[in-house]
Amino acid sequence: MLGELAAIVVPLACAGCGEEDVALCESCSAPWWESPWRADDGAPRLDVGGRSRLPVWTVAPLEGSTHRAVVAWKDGGRRDLDHFFSSAIARAAMALRADLGTLPRLLVVPVPSQRRSIRRRGIDLPRILARSAAASLPVPTRAAALLRSDGGRSRGSSSAARWDAARVRVSPRGAREPVMIVDDVITTGASIARAADALERAGFVPVAGLTLAATPPRGVRAIPGLG
Ligand SMILES: [Zn+2]
Repeated sequence: MLGELAAIVVPLACAGCGEEDVALCESCSAPWWESPWRADDGAPRLDVGGRSRLPVWTVAPLEGSTHRAVVAWKDGGRRDLDHFFSSAIARAAMALRADLGTLPRLLVVPVPSQRRSIRRRGIDLPRILARSAAASLPVPTRAAALLRSDGGRSRGSSSAARWDAARVRVSPRGAREPVMIVDDVITTGASIARAADALERAGFVPVAGLTLAATPPRGVRAIPGLG
């Protein structure tokens, strides 16, 4: 009852800047329409001897309004942004024609969420992003939740422990099928690297990653004092 009342009296506000009566204002939406860019160069956990393990494209740098919008979506219960962010990753997927268009097919796999995150959010965010990307990629795709981390066995755990418990549920096994790994955010690249490890063990070939946002490349961080 209180919740329903709150939904009625609390005005909708931009998840990026707080402007009233709009889910995401024009200016806070703009970064999500940019062309995708490579985020793997700035991700130390994808670095193998000075070279990137696999290309990971992303849409927006995680800073300022984009950061606030992603946090509101992931942890602020802003389910009204599901469609916006699904569309943003679909546009990015569509833009990868030159990079992925020659592949005969591609399996699209989300990085697994913790069960308690899915419970709390009521939705598996990487999974809806993966589905949306798979529907828009310029190659024949199938989307699959091949990876499932067994949160029950490693409760309250670090991401490393969750991945130790991860199971790859594959039927049939990989047969060298190329795979794109999808996640909401990339920071160090650890989650995508672990997903790639698990997929390789199951006989797949990780060829690309796609995320919604990434920590900005070094050297373009906000200047202290200027927000
Ligand atoms: Zn705004």
